[in-house]
Amino acid sequence: MTAQLIDGNALSRTLRAEVATRAAALKARGVAPGLAVVLVGENPASQVYVRNKVKACEDNGLHSVLEKYPAELSEAELLARVEALNKDPAIHGILVQLPLPAHIDAQKVIEAIAPAKDVDGFHVASAGALMTGMPGFWPCTPYGCMKMFESIGYELRGKHAVVIGRSNIVGKPMALMLLAKNATVTICHSATQDLGAITRQADVVVAAVGKRNVLTADMVKPGAVVIDVGMNRNDEGKLCGDVDFAGVREVAGWITPVPGGVGPMTITMLLVNTIEAAERAAEAT
Ligand code: NAP
Repeated sequence: MTAQLIDGNALSRTLRAEVATRAAALKARGVAPGLAVVLVGENPASQVYVRNKVKACEDNGLHSVLEKYPAELSEAELLARVEALNKDPAIHGILVQLPLPAHIDAQKVIEAIAPAKDVDGFHVASAGALMTGMPGFWPCTPYGCMKMFESIGYELRGKHAVVIGRSNIVGKPMALMLLAKNATVTICHSATQDLGAITRQADVVVAAVGKRNVLTADMVKPGAVVIDVGMNRNDEGKLCGDVDFAGVREVAGWITPVPGGVGPMTITMLLVNTIEAAERAAEAT
């Protein structure tokens, strides 16, 4: 069996077109949906991510403000900027690009963002909302994975979903989202013994580790849905995921490629959260 591909680029195009339509509708009501992206320091990877986010906003009818600060910016100065953005009615979403320089407490900065503008979904209020099923913003990467299940019409109810990785931004929220869809969820991590014995039972595997070949063909149940969140480099320096794609695609039913899988979905869901934030703000006024 060769797995069918879940194409994150194609799905992103569809979802981004929906964002652009919603943005046009808001603009017709006199509201320009706006995202503020805050970058501190010169981290080259962060600069690329931030540029891509700003461009994605511009391409899909969202207004974006990029605030760049030197690495020496103090924590107090950054907190003051976040506070000003919280109060700015033209800004509906705030994203502080991580990592921040070591002298700044990233969690403190995230907690300073107004939950109504927390489009990254990292605020403790957003995490609590996800856990309790209340309205809030879901972290973009696992939210994008959920859209991928939806796009193939996959019924998660009663399925065994195994999430490899338990970070606050991917693994844990992913597990909660799958649980909310009535999957039976197992979370694996670096202390898990015999990972393969667990993943072989899974109807769905989400790999979010950051290590190549964490999931190989012998660890996958025939027909399973495999979502690869990982972003790594292979020996030739090319982008690859956590999954041995060539091997696993011969066993799985569905698989996401890297690149072109979860990656584009993350920025797409940032746009979705931002338009949602702007619509909620417009409704509240
Ligand atoms: P992270 O914070 O480093 O978490 C990695 C998780 O993997 C941890 O929970 C760790 O367990 C677990 N782990 C490590 N080695 C393992 C092993 N051998 N077996 C099972 N579990 C193991 O990383 P993250 O932020 O969640 O990101 C994970 C990957 O996704 C990275 O490659 C990252 O670049 C990528 N990513 C991609 C996107 C995207 O847009 N495509 C977005 C975000 C992240 P412990 O908790 O026990 O240490």
